[in-house]
Amino acid sequence: MKPAMGRRHSGTGASDGLFMGPARSIAGRSAAPRVAADPDSERAALAAALAGATGGIATLMTRVEGDAADMLGFQLAMLEDDALAAPAFAGIAAGLPADIAFATAMNAEIAGYDASDDEYFRARSADLADIRDRVLRVLAGEDLAGAEAGVVLTGDDLAPSLFLETDWSRGGAIALRRGSSTSHVAMLARARGIPMVVGLGEALSETAGTLMVDGSTGTVTADPDAAEQVAFASALARHSAARAAEERFLLQPARRRDGAPVEVLVNVAGVEELDGIDPASCDGIGLMRSEFLFRDGADLPDEEMQYHAYRRFLEWAGGKPVTIRTLDIGGDKPIRGLTPEGEANPFLGLRGVRLTLARAEVFRTQLRALARSAVHGNLKVMIPMVTVPDELARSAALLAACLAQLEAAGTPHAAPPLGIMVEVPAVAVAPELFGAARFLSIGSNDLTQYVTAAARDDARVAPLNDPGHPAVLRLIAQVADYGRQTGIPVSLCGDMASEPRHLAALLGAGLTSLSVAPARLARVKAAIAEL
Ligand code: PEP
Ligand code: MG
Repeated sequence: MKPAMGRRHSGTGASDGLFMGPARSIAGRSAAPRVAADPDSERAALAAALAGATGGIATLMTRVEGDAADMLGFQLAMLEDDALAAPAFAGIAAGLPADIAFATAMNAEIAGYDASDDEYFRARSADLADIRDRVLRVLAGEDLAGAEAGVVLTGDDLAPSLFLETDWSRGGAIALRRGSSTSHVAMLARARGIPMVVGLGEALSETAGTLMVDGSTGTVTADPDAAEQVAFASALARHSAARAAEERFLLQPARRRDGAPVEVLVNVAGVEELDGIDPASCDGIGLMRSEFLFRDGADLPDEEMQYHAYRRFLEWAGGKPVTIRTLDIGGDKPIRGLTPEGEANPFLGLRGVRLTLARAEVFRTQLRALARSAVHGNLKVMIPMVTVPDELARSAALLAACLAQLEAAGTPHAAPPLGIMVEVPAVAVAPELFGAARFLSIGSNDLTQYVTAAARDDARVAPLNDPGHPAVLRLIAQVADYGRQTGIPVSLCGDMASEPRHLAALLGAGLTSLSVAPARLARVKAAIAEL
């Protein structure tokens, strides 16, 4: 069947790379309606399907590690929680067949996640849909095997477990009508180097035949003609050669063409990421986003749990600097029970240090854990969303009080230097007010959204949210200049540092320290060598 309209579709690139192959639809896998038996049999059928799905995921978990294992761990925990299926069992007691009862219950749960303002939670709904479909497929007695090797998976969205079951040994790609570049499956695709394009829209619905996927430009071409195939083959050759050439830079210190060194550190969110990064490939951790230790709906991590997590990062780094940022929740990262509900404009509300100062008991627990972990390496503590010097002073006073308590109790600890993120324009405009900060790290993601008044999570204003805007670059240069004059170290940890197209401007602004996504280390170092 030919595409319904247009052969070239534009979406958003979620994972770099190019691939051409036969399309395989992941739609239409829903189970045929079951014939309802008596409630006891339906209850037993659902219990067996839940057990079968749990077993399937547990088996998958033995084959993967890192983020993938983490995601499957989330699914296992959900499946093992009796609360998940309780409404479905209630539906069966009320006379519904097992599949309808389970689908109805799960759809209600998924709708709650879908309605979230936060893209992270919306992306998580795919995990729940994955659980739903897996259980329904077991109930229907379907074969759960993934797609064969070397195909382009197409559909609305892709369940992470289907990604993991797919044979990628001969490459492949993903082209989705909906989907999100921050979803788990996008993360898995990037980690595995599988090209992926999301947001292609309904025009892709009738697509069959051969698809050419370019994850870098976010385009998909259906049934390409000979000239398009030749152009694609040469683009693919260029892409492969470029990636291979970059890999040579991974384990070398970053240097500009004139030999001047540039410090390149990594941004991380969880301990499970560490397994995939060679400490020799970077100059340390420039940003650890500690808020990802806090899971919505779960108990807040206690001091002990946090201490062990921070210690893992420090031991991994083996003496290289590790900058751990204190909780930056609120805004696009809500935690139920901790962040305020119903804020009119969460990005301008109680976020980052504003929130932790308002919830001093949570802040204190984190600061104690950080001070205890500081004996295990070269720790720096960074405060997010600072706007006025008083916020830094109050944070420093809380840290000092924690240090005094630990000292009095004879608990091993050390005093980490305290620095701040420069992500609120007020700080970038007047950095001299923050002379007490031991270091500055520019958060270009937030700085850009506040300078351009264009939200970082709204696709409609994405063209305005440009870190390359002269106003943003001027502020960055000003902060770098302030650092040079005062001797206060300045780094940049926003996403723009991971984009080679911005590197000339950043180094030109006088920055000599950048923190980037681990998957971009080789590319960034290679690009720096050209400058
Ligand atoms: C930033 O704002 O640039 C930053 C690094 O922090 P986050 O993306 O976590 O807000
Ligand atoms: Mg930020």
